[in-house]
Amino acid sequence: MQYGKLGNTDILVSKLCFGSLTLGPLQKNLPLNDGAAIIKKAIDLGVNFIDTADLYDTYPYIREAIKYKRDLVVASKSYAYDIETASQTLERALREIGREYIDIFLLHEQEGPLTLKGHREALEYFIAKKQEGIVHAVGISTHHVAAVKAAALMSEIDVIHPILNYRGLGIVDGSRTEMEQAIKTAYEYGKGIYIMKALGGGHLIADVKRAFDYIMDFPYAHSIAVGMQRMEEVYFNISYFGSRTIPNNLQAALESYERKLFIQDWCIGCGRCVERCSQGALRIGPDGKAFVLHEKCLLCGYCGSVCDQLAIKVI
Ligand code: SF4
Ligand code: SF4
Repeated sequence: MQYGKLGNTDILVSKLCFGSLTLGPLQKNLPLNDGAAIIKKAIDLGVNFIDTADLYDTYPYIREAIKYKRDLVVASKSYAYDIETASQTLERALREIGREYIDIFLLHEQEGPLTLKGHREALEYFIAKKQEGIVHAVGISTHHVAAVKAAALMSEIDVIHPILNYRGLGIVDGSRTEMEQAIKTAYEYGKGIYIMKALGGGHLIADVKRAFDYIMDFPYAHSIAVGMQRMEEVYFNISYFGSRTIPNNLQAALESYERKLFIQDWCIGCGRCVERCSQGALRIGPDGKAFVLHEKCLLCGYCGSVCDQLAIKVI
């Protein structure tokens, strides 16, 4: 496993970052000990960096993992836009992971200069907490080229968590080439870069070697977050990130496991999930119920968080 400093921060991270969304209620919803055991296995095999979010509800797993590795690097994010929501979400993170500081706190799903302006008060709050030593680095996560470009030029932003994969899946406002260029600029400005969705939310698993080779050869990323929810996935990713080789049995195990989004019959067609999906992957059909365009869906599960009927499942 390679390790490196996350841009101009002093935070040393493993090249493979554990994406924890997959463990929690928006996806696999593993029992606490099972989810924690998967993180601990990744730690045993060299991972020191984990990504989460206020939305994911995976802090309890991370709390267990921190008991196992005190200096685990934790990045979280929230939709906070003012002091009140910023303090609520930061305090929840600290309380639920059981630590007095958090390494990285990001503004979640930024779209560009306008949303950055709209979340300015929250960003100022996180910057103030950084000066107190409670947050070690601040930044954004994004599916938008415009947000990477804007954040690259902001001296107060330390870390950017952008989407990138070889097919450009999930980039909302531009091409893969445009995103590569924006990330390169941000990297050269000293931003810590850790990539999301290198496997396109699962769409690129059939071509996983190509997807991983592309992202590992991309020279402007310090770390790559990959969602894991099974031990085989940990072994698979560790094998690849260690030696760029993948044992055949692990390849077969990964390919045999297809994830999909399901909408249950009891959907009432309220449309909240349609509004929530930034990928435009949901519609309301003639039967008055939501349906998914699987080719557009990145399996993030975010739509499930707004469905009060609990009608959406990513399995
Ligand atoms: S939010 Fe839930 S109930 Fe509403 S349309 Fe979507 S799946 Fe159906
Ligand atoms: S449909 Fe749901 S899971 Fe798929 S990309 Fe949209 S928000 Fe994410």
